Amino acid sequence: MNRKSAREILSDLVAFPVLGGESNLEIIAYIQSHLEQFGIQSTLVENKAEKKASLHCRIGPAVDGGVILSGHTDVVPVEGQDWETNPFQLVEKEGKLYARGSCDMKGFLACCLAALPDLVAANLSVPIYFAFSYDEEIGCLAGTELAEAIRDYYTEKPKYAIIGEPSMMQPIVGQKGIYIQKVTVHGSAGHSSRIKQEVSAVHEAARLIMWLEQEMERLSAKNIDERFHPNHTSIHVGMVNGGIAPNVIADTCTFTVDYRTIPSDNLHLITTKFEAYCADLELRLRERFEGAKIVVEEHHPPVPPLDTKEDAEVVAFIRALSGVYELDAVSYAAEAGQFALAGFESVICGPGSIAQAHRANEFISIEQLEKGESFIKKLIQKLSVVESVHA
Ligand SMILES: [Zn+2]
Repeated sequence: MNRKSAREILSDLVAFPVLGGESNLEIIAYIQSHLEQFGIQSTLVENKAEKKASLHCRIGPAVDGGVILSGHTDVVPVEGQDWETNPFQLVEKEGKLYARGSCDMKGFLACCLAALPDLVAANLSVPIYFAFSYDEEIGCLAGTELAEAIRDYYTEKPKYAIIGEPSMMQPIVGQKGIYIQKVTVHGSAGHSSRIKQEVSAVHEAARLIMWLEQEMERLSAKNIDERFHPNHTSIHVGMVNGGIAPNVIADTCTFTVDYRTIPSDNLHLITTKFEAYCADLELRLRERFEGAKIVVEEHHPPVPPLDTKEDAEVVAFIRALSGVYELDAVSYAAEAGQFALAGFESVICGPGSIAQAHRANEFISIEQLEKGESFIKKLIQKLSVVESVHA
């Protein structure tokens, strides 16, 4: 058996430049062969057409109550970023290990894989599962399928999921939901002086955008969650496109809507209300121009929020493991809500800082990588049967 340190494995993993959206089969093959060295068979959840796969495996007995360790194999791009080193080569400088993905989140994957000799040697009373996905960075596209595959594949029922996103080993129990829509308004073109007779797609889009902003105000007056910054559901239009000239009424205008929902707001209710408003406006516009149309499409599938309650058993479990009592919530996307929806009590807890993720010169400190390793060692200890010594 070839025992490699977390650092050596991390160095191997960062050399696979798998961006979100790209094939990850090479890095998955590396992970599979590493698992096989320790006699662990893994199962792939494949997207054959796009040459991508998630991987899951079980180490330990097939009994209820196991713990899933979840991570993603893809990273964000490096284009346009001012890197001082080769982003796909692990470089050490002053106690820090630099590379794309070193922190988000191949560091955690390396900690999991480096623990394999201890994992197979341990006398686990409940199993540990690895769950490694793809396309997380372009919107958690594979998380739901992987979580459901684990739920359905094993006859026993895993209990907890620990998502090893960089959190400085701080337990995170709340995450906002994310959803993106694309809206297209079809109006009628004409001379700008005919603004009262024609339907300007730009003007009507502006009306919809202002309605969305007011809806955000209504929601935030009604419902807040102090764990998040901001403490309310946010609705934001980041892209608007329409019109061809200052003196021509625009017949088309498109915009995107980004919803970031706190767990206690219901995304479905919010979008249903918006779509009803769009339908109503469309009817009124048709009185002026028969071809008027407002099309609302999904631009990105919803990523569910995470809302693990403080009295959930996984909270006591992660507090004991991490040694950190305080809980936190985040506004970035992760697969934790998807694992929670599949029936596993979920928390985010992993080495490295989110502040270093997604930017040039991403790094994980050696100290954090070691903390990740000792976290997994403690997990193994906690789940192991202590052999009684008979005198
Ligand atoms: Zn990540």
